[in-house]
Amino acid sequence: MKTALPRSPWLQPSRLRFLTQAALLIVCLYLGVRFGQFVRHFETFGATPAVPRPPGVEGFLPIGALVSLKHWLVNGVIDPVHPAALVLFVTFLALALLAKNAFCSWLCPVGTLSEWLWKGVHRLTGRTFRVWNWLDLPLRGLKYLLLAFFLKLIAIDMPAFALAEFLASPYWAIADVRMLHFFTAPSPLSLAIIGLLIGLSAVYRNAWCRYLCPYGALLGLLSLFSPLKVQRRREHCTDCRRCTAVCPARIEVHRKQTVRSLDCTGCLTCVGNCPAAGALELAPEFGRTGLPGWGFALLVVLLLAGGIATGMLTGHWGSALTYADYQQLIPIADRIGH
Ligand code: SF4
Ligand code: SF4
Repeated sequence: MKTALPRSPWLQPSRLRFLTQAALLIVCLYLGVRFGQFVRHFETFGATPAVPRPPGVEGFLPIGALVSLKHWLVNGVIDPVHPAALVLFVTFLALALLAKNAFCSWLCPVGTLSEWLWKGVHRLTGRTFRVWNWLDLPLRGLKYLLLAFFLKLIAIDMPAFALAEFLASPYWAIADVRMLHFFTAPSPLSLAIIGLLIGLSAVYRNAWCRYLCPYGALLGLLSLFSPLKVQRRREHCTDCRRCTAVCPARIEVHRKQTVRSLDCTGCLTCVGNCPAAGALELAPEFGRTGLPGWGFALLVVLLLAGGIATGMLTGHWGSALTYADYQQLIPIADRIGH
């Protein structure tokens, strides 16, 4: 048997992924705190210090970003109110097309928290529940139904004038503030939903991502076109089945030559755990040369940084809303749209 060469622990895909996830989570927490301070300044009518608004929070507005993308494609205009929402959305779509659904397993803070939660519970109790196979398949369809609902509502049914109208509305202007309030001042219903999702994610591996997230469903569909795929080289494989045992997406990796599943997020857990050198790697579908874990991590980070830099350099990052606009809108944010 040809065994895997010892690799530096710092270059292990699992370590690189953990570091990338942790860095993104810290950045998101920082953005959330800064945005909270920004909003607080207007809610207290200037009694707390003014801080610059961090545009990165618009990454949490994917549905509005879908409207914005259609507006750009149909009307040829980039929304000036939340341009970073569009920039980040397009960046994540490009990421899925080029580097599998790496957004879900390497970047998404919700995916990170959900993964750490079930892993923490597993470590403490030694158990993670599995949804029965007969129920797993229909449940996995839920996120595609949700995706179809949003695509029909926005990408198909929304006419050009309605796109412009929505993006010029006060509702869209303070969508980020309402998103913040969803977490900082949750209603009893929001609390119940968050509690349910946390409970599910604690006992079932990636419950939210696997069954309910329409964003992940969209990126998973696009990732089918990614040239990079996990590939098993039969000549080196010892059929130990470790890859299948560790795959968080429950893919039977040991039976595939090329993993083309919608659920494969490119987490590289299988690759990192394969004990046979050269048996499993991430490689271009019709190529023979695999991309090392550090190469994939670099690709993901460079694509993210490149997307953000493009938005900044082309002047589509900061919002066009003025201090006076926020002074007027933020104190009444929760009444807008009711
Ligand atoms: S981990 Fe999977 S690919 Fe690697 S040797 Fe075992 S069965 Fe083969
Ligand atoms: S097949 Fe490998 S890369 Fe894909 S989700 Fe499973 S463990 Fe991750």
